[in-house]
Amino acid sequence: MESKDFRRLGHELVDWIADYRDRLDELPVMSRVDPGDVRALMPADPPETGDGLDQVLVDLEGIVLPGITHWNHPGWLAYFPSNTDLSSVLADLVSSGLGAQGMNWQTSPACTEVEDVVMEWLRSMLGLPDEFSGVIHDAASTATLCALLCARERATGFRQETAGLTGHDAPLVVYASDQAHSSILKAVMLAGMGRENLRLVETDSEYALPPDALAAAIEHDTAAGRVPCAVVATIGTTATTAVDPLADIAPIARDRGLWLHVDAALGGCAMICPENRPLWNGVETADSLVLNPHKWLGAGFDLSAYYVRDPDHLIRTMGTDPSYLRTSRDGSVRNLRDWGIPLGRRFRALKLWFVIRDQGVEGLQRRVRRDMANAAWLREQIETSPDWELLAPVPLQTVCLRHVPEALRGDEQALAIHNLTIADAVNAGGRYCLTPSVVRGVQLLRVSIGALPTELEHVEGAWAALRQAADGVRPATS
Ligand SMILES: *Cc1c(COP(=O)(O)O)cnc(C)c1O
Repeated sequence: MESKDFRRLGHELVDWIADYRDRLDELPVMSRVDPGDVRALMPADPPETGDGLDQVLVDLEGIVLPGITHWNHPGWLAYFPSNTDLSSVLADLVSSGLGAQGMNWQTSPACTEVEDVVMEWLRSMLGLPDEFSGVIHDAASTATLCALLCARERATGFRQETAGLTGHDAPLVVYASDQAHSSILKAVMLAGMGRENLRLVETDSEYALPPDALAAAIEHDTAAGRVPCAVVATIGTTATTAVDPLADIAPIARDRGLWLHVDAALGGCAMICPENRPLWNGVETADSLVLNPHKWLGAGFDLSAYYVRDPDHLIRTMGTDPSYLRTSRDGSVRNLRDWGIPLGRRFRALKLWFVIRDQGVEGLQRRVRRDMANAAWLREQIETSPDWELLAPVPLQTVCLRHVPEALRGDEQALAIHNLTIADAVNAGGRYCLTPSVVRGVQLLRVSIGALPTELEHVEGAWAALRQAADGVRPATS
């Protein structure tokens, strides 16, 4: 494409994106296409001769948009907030426009140094100690894999790295709560530790990891000749945003020489507000930590922040140092290729840099506080409405609830069907989208607040929609 065509189409596409964000309110939150609908609108074969992109806006409207579920919609209450502030959209454009690889300092010094500075900014915004060094990964899943690889090498004195899976014969064991994210299991599998060696410790009544049970599980494995290797504590679990008691877990890990990794993918973002930091007391002693600014700080996916206490250990675990990548500057710079899995790295730091510059720390704090206040408002409605039940504490921005009408009390199966029907009715309405979920056998409705344009009025609207749906659904006794 020539720059003159890029300029013209680029302006049109920026306009299209801006208009899209402005008219989100009019679109149904959840895509209504059926499987195969999008595919059916595309030719089976690629065009033999290129005919330019002049049709592309028509196709974005006709083919793509109907198949999009709008995560930036004000009625987005599903899964988790994951949004791309428009400042971050611009940063992505710049990153692609520069088209630079930041694998070494030398391959584009600005890629590394902007990332260094932005990760230091974020560290101080979160109140983390200066010993932590940060690097950007694509996703929390990748960061957690890196953490468990580091834990594995520390526990085996680098035997796995040198001798492979035959290098250590006692199984290495990883501990997390039964509410931990599936990425922990995936990391255990990919690190060659084996799913049998992941202990998902039963959580307490608030879905948090009980330190006593953790200590007991570690003693049990040690007595059986296995090697306890790492503890993954979660700050803000996926289902209910439960918070594991880090201050009590950290000494258990430290005293027994276990790696402590903190999965704060969503919850870590809340720590830019000092009043939330008691939730992760003890974090300063962690060996590694991940949080996703692409979840609740406005940076577009993929921007996951991974912090480690001992970067040399990370580099020794992940680095390979082939001759063709060595440069004369290696002694005085960070070569971020050695801080993660892929060699190539695009200029993702721009996304966070743009967002922080545009919003400032205050702007980002305001947004987190707004979302937490809106969640607290909904929690109060549930607590003061006789037929509704709150199913978990609300430490962050997710409210877990269900409707319990008089006629169905005590009939779990009927309650599950009843609440699923409510979720379907709300979601079918097109203005709000929430995720039903089953936690410890209980069917609940998860209202995850925090899309960028979601204001109190939208949460009020969702609460009205929930009540209306509950009234409209005739409770069927089983
Ligand atoms: C979202 C989430 C993850 C996974 O994040 P990715 O960046 O998509 O890999 C892991 N843990 C928790 C607690 C999460 O909320």
